[in-house]
Amino acid sequence: MENLDKQYVLPTYNRNYINFVKGKNATLWDDKGNEYIDFTSGIGVVSVGHGNERVANVICEQAKNITHISNIYYIEPQAKLAEKIAKLAEIKGKTFFANSGAEANEGALKIARKYGEIDGEIKRYKIITLRNSFHGRTITTVKATGQEKMHQSYFGPYPDGFVYAENLEDIYNKIDEKTVAVMMELIQGEGGVYAFDKEEVQKLAKFLKEKDILLIIDEVQTGIYRTSEFLASNLYEIKPDIITMAKGLGGGVPIGAIFTTVDVLKAGDHGSTFGGNYLVTSAALEVLNILEKYKDSGKLDENFIYFEEKLKEIGEKYPKLFEEVTGLGLMRGLKCKGTEIQDIIYKESHNNRVLVLKAGRNVIRFLPPLTITKEEIDEGFMRFENALKRMV
Ligand SMILES: *Cc1c(COP(=O)(O)O)cnc(C)c1O
Repeated sequence: MENLDKQYVLPTYNRNYINFVKGKNATLWDDKGNEYIDFTSGIGVVSVGHGNERVANVICEQAKNITHISNIYYIEPQAKLAEKIAKLAEIKGKTFFANSGAEANEGALKIARKYGEIDGEIKRYKIITLRNSFHGRTITTVKATGQEKMHQSYFGPYPDGFVYAENLEDIYNKIDEKTVAVMMELIQGEGGVYAFDKEEVQKLAKFLKEKDILLIIDEVQTGIYRTSEFLASNLYEIKPDIITMAKGLGGGVPIGAIFTTVDVLKAGDHGSTFGGNYLVTSAALEVLNILEKYKDSGKLDENFIYFEEKLKEIGEKYPKLFEEVTGLGLMRGLKCKGTEIQDIIYKESHNNRVLVLKAGRNVIRFLPPLTITKEEIDEGFMRFENALKRMV
């Protein structure tokens, strides 16, 4: 497999050469029959678990009928999904469907820029983003990402108008008369699983509203019940002007969404060939039906509490390795004492057949399927602890 991959696929990823052939909820099997516990859900994507029967059936039925017909025509599951998103978000907004997180963010930036032109005498175009943020891999969203290492000169020139704030407090300093929006994650994912303070975020949201500066919350990773509420914005009790989603929304099918109360786009302003087609929107609608029930039944919150307890236990048991447990809900980090420890734990976890992720320079990140069972959590943490054995 390694040879085939290396010969024909561009080498943009640091791949682990494990050939997974079977999945069930948070458990995976490779081609040699080895079993793994999955604490990553494909980077927060497979929210309802691998091999989810209900989603599989919906995809199967839809695929046998119509997969795609283009946005030139009415797409019923798309409209129903948009209705569902507005209901669960508890905001009277509308949705545009894209195919990925970066694309959703790109569209959000277009909405903000248009808003900045039609509202007021001077064109407002500046977008403030945060240090250590992550917003995607297109040229514009790379520039929106507040990490210097992402702004390689060989991809330049980049679009203008992005301003980086060191932290929430610094956003106030960076605002000027050309500022149209602030774009941020509520919990920085790739940057190291760092959750911002709820009251500070609320204060900022209120301030921006008064100044008529749009608040764009990138919920590509935090959205879709990852933090226990449908959106982290619900948990933080804010009503942003624009919210972007992707990862967990389709349960594995590629889908992104821009959900907004800023109704400035007109026909022709934006579009996507694949965006919101029958296949992905019918799958995502089933994902949301499943997770809504799961939340209402109390099982989701039980899972959160159980996972958090186990993780905190481990974090405290090995003070030589870990500084603290970070994040919220089932988006969690174990902050390691250094990059080297992070690297070894990451590798040893794979050797012990529990999948985890890295984030930032020193964080081991956990993004299990939301439907992970207690048995899978127990088994995963047992393996994770075994992975630490070589270091303590
Ligand atoms: C993953 C991620 C993105 C990019 O999503 P893609 O689907 O890979 O384009 C953007 N923002 C955040 C917060 C993410 O976690």
